[in-house]
Parts: sequence; C-alpha cells; structure tokens
Amino acid sequence: MIKENVQKIFKEIPEDALLVAAVKSRSIKEIKEAVDAGVKIIGENYLQETEKLFPYIGHIVKWHYIGSIQKNKIKKIVEIFDMIETVDSVDVLRGIDRRAKGIGKIMPVLIEVNSGKEEQKSGVYPEQAGQLIDAAAPFKNVLIQGLMTMGPFVNDPEKLRPYFKLTKELFDCLKARETKNAQMKYLSMGMSDSYKIAIQEGANIVRIGTLIFGPRHDR
Ligand SMILES: *Cc1c(COP(=O)(O)O)cnc(C)c1O
Repeated sequence: MIKENVQKIFKEIPEDALLVAAVKSRSIKEIKEAVDAGVKIIGENYLQETEKLFPYIGHIVKWHYIGSIQKNKIKKIVEIFDMIETVDSVDVLRGIDRRAKGIGKIMPVLIEVNSGKEEQKSGVYPEQAGQLIDAAAPFKNVLIQGLMTMGPFVNDPEKLRPYFKLTKELFDCLKARETKNAQMKYLSMGMSDSYKIAIQEGANIVRIGTLIFGPRHDR
C-alpha cells in the first residue's frame, strides 16, 4: 500500500515540487518501504526518533526537521538535518548559526509562519517574517530558503486556502526584496488533507504522513 500511495502522490504533484514524508511514530520497515517507492526527503518532528532511524536510512534521503525546536537540541538537529523548516525566532537562528559554524556547515532553514495568527501556535506572525529575516543578516552559517506554514486546525481543508494564499503573497513579497542571506526558493505548505489546495496556491514542498502510511496508531 505504501508504495502505491507514494506513487499516487508523485503523480498528483508537479515535477518540481518536493514531497516530504512525515514519518513521526512510523516503523523503520514502513519508512524503508516509502524510500524504496521513491521518497527522497524524510520529515521528522522528534530528534530522538531521528537518532534511532538515521543509522538504518542515513544519507540515501534528505532529512527535514519539522518539529518544534528546543534550544538544547539545536546542536544535534544541525548535525543531522539537511533543512530545518520550523525556525521562528532570532534566538533559534543564533543557536543554529553557532552550531553550524562549529562544524563548518551552512544550514538551510525555512521560517515558520503562523498564518492563522493563533496565540498558542508556533511561527512568526506574517508581518514579522521580514524583520526576522533581516535580523538573520549577521548569521553567516544560516541560509534562509523560504517559508513554511501549517495553518489553523479546520474541519474542512478548503478553509485553509486563504491562509495558504496569504503565505504565498508574503513569500513573493519577501522574494522580491532580495535580502542578503535569504534566497526565497521554497514554500512548504499542505499536509495529507490539504496538499492539493496548497499546490494550487503555490506550495513547492508538501509534508505528507497519513496519506502515505495510513492513520497513526500511536496516540
Ligand atoms: C505530522 C505532520 C505532517 C503530516 O501530517 P499528515 O496529516 O499525517 O499528512 C506535516 N507537517 C507537520 C509539521 C507534521 O507534524
């Protein structure tokens, strides 16, 4: 099933869009099946899980960090991951820069946007994204490559469209500014139930779990 699911998604997204397989709580066997089916990027929310998976999968795929970032985990996150999609503060940027410098790496990141402006959610408010990017100018070991958004929790994915639209507009606006250490290239939005809408609204990274692996049975 996993193989068919992956192939179906690849058929439905544009060729230049990236599929990130969101693998939280999945078994190594399931993940390997997805990789065998052509998945090139794994998205992980948890460092501990990643450290378990990495020895079995390693660099045959790229690793995107899509979870919330705890300060004491930044060192390891920078070491393992190829992109961090969930950056939302100067402090985190500074921590990433310091750790990346330590190992001679330029760390690609996306700025997470709280497009629904929900108080308890992670991400910067849309109007603060530009400021955060400007504040990253001194951080030579960080490369900002775009934006990521989740959007609010809604019962109908169609209701996410305005938030995807807003994030795309912000993306285009920031892209036009040509900031020094930012090259706005990726717009990561859309999950299992919303990726088609996200693609229509301009996403070029989609993060998909359930539609590849089936419903999660861990919680
Ligand atoms: C789990 C997760 C996804 C995938 O969600 P599905 O609904 O299972 O496709 C995407 N992005 C993030 C940040 C996630 O935590």
